[in-house]
Amino acid sequence: MVQHRSPRDKAGRSRRPIAVIVAIALIAALAIGGGVVWSWRARHGRALAQCESARNGLIAETDALRKAVESSSSVMSVSPSSLEDAGVLATARAEVQSSRQLIDRTAGDDYACSGEMTADELDSRTVAIAEAADRARKQTKTLPVEAAAVRRSTANKSNEAVRYTLRAAVSQAKELLSDTSGKVTDDSTRVRLKRLADAADRQLTDDETISDGAEYRRSIDGLNAAMDAVTTSNIAKLGVDCAKAKCVALTFDDGPDATNTPPVIRALQETGTVATFFSVGQHIDERTAPMLRQLRDSGHPIENHTWDHPHLRTLSRSDVASQLTRTSALVEKTVGAYPSMIRPPYSEWSNDVRDQAVAMNSSIINFDVMGFDWEKDAKGVHDAVLQWTRPGDIVLLHDLQGSTAQAVKGIIDDLKAEGFTFVTIEQLLGERPKPGYVYYSRTQVVRPGESWRPSTYFAEQW
Ligand SMILES: [Zn+2]
Repeated sequence: MVQHRSPRDKAGRSRRPIAVIVAIALIAALAIGGGVVWSWRARHGRALAQCESARNGLIAETDALRKAVESSSSVMSVSPSSLEDAGVLATARAEVQSSRQLIDRTAGDDYACSGEMTADELDSRTVAIAEAADRARKQTKTLPVEAAAVRRSTANKSNEAVRYTLRAAVSQAKELLSDTSGKVTDDSTRVRLKRLADAADRQLTDDETISDGAEYRRSIDGLNAAMDAVTTSNIAKLGVDCAKAKCVALTFDDGPDATNTPPVIRALQETGTVATFFSVGQHIDERTAPMLRQLRDSGHPIENHTWDHPHLRTLSRSDVASQLTRTSALVEKTVGAYPSMIRPPYSEWSNDVRDQAVAMNSSIINFDVMGFDWEKDAKGVHDAVLQWTRPGDIVLLHDLQGSTAQAVKGIIDDLKAEGFTFVTIEQLLGERPKPGYVYYSRTQVVRPGESWRPSTYFAEQW
């Protein structure tokens, strides 16, 4: 018997598996969909938590920053003219301003975390908040440093004058130390000077140190006393006692000069003679600077004879200061040593000049014998010097003058033949010349408070 299946039966058998598949698919879809929703919620929750945690960190950092801003806010009221370096103030002010902005932005919506933001938005907000917290942490550290730099620069400005004097003294001390290595009877004097010079150096340059005027003054006095001791010990070691020996100090003004300084250098070299050079600032240039270095390296001090040779008594205090400080600065730059002696042109000094010498920790060195080399020929210069020189004298010649360039060798030879010994100013005086003192010779000294007077020899020769 043939069994027939009805079409309906057929259809019923084939529909059942489809329903099963659809049901399975539906269940799967629901499961996946639920999972997706679940995991989206979890990611969003994590992002929000991270954002809020970062924000709490930022709030803690800006609280610290707010305190730093409060204790640094005085920089906003400082006047730029009361600073040694106005750039320090600009930096500190910019830092205070950007710190305040950061604090304000933290209080506003810029660094807020909201559940309405997408997870991606929260993630990038978290990064921005972390960067802001980092900035706040750095600024909390740098603000006090920058405010301290402003305070230091303000203190430095109000101590500008005494700091200048101390800088001069430190440079002179270093020069003296390098000149006297192995040339003292008592090396403890050099050890002490070195210690004081290093301490003063720190006082001038250390970022942590803010000294007052009295502390700087003490350092200057200490350095001068220590330099006096080294110089005295050095003079003893050199072994010429100008209280007994026939000493003379040769000095050359108005150079350096490309033509006439070289023969003077040669004469000094050939005769093994020391001399002191008082240079005019505007004569120091590319051609003549090497001559000054050669002289300095051979032990001849390079000192200050103003910038362009004016009559100092006719100038204002500030012009006197400019004439002298410009020259000492250039000499220091050229030969590495800040001058400790000033010779005023035409031997004309005043209380202003003396005050300025003290400000530069320098003495004033005049003279009491002249070669008249601006008007005499070589023989005339030679004869004038030979006629007038006595033991203890300071002789003025000019390495600018051809007559001196020709006469200097004969002058040295003939004074030596008369028993003279050529010495430095320090040896001649038997001590380091004191700042603000005016010296005409070993015995003719004008002390602070005493008024101007000409040299006796000088008056005799005019
Ligand atoms: Zn001169």
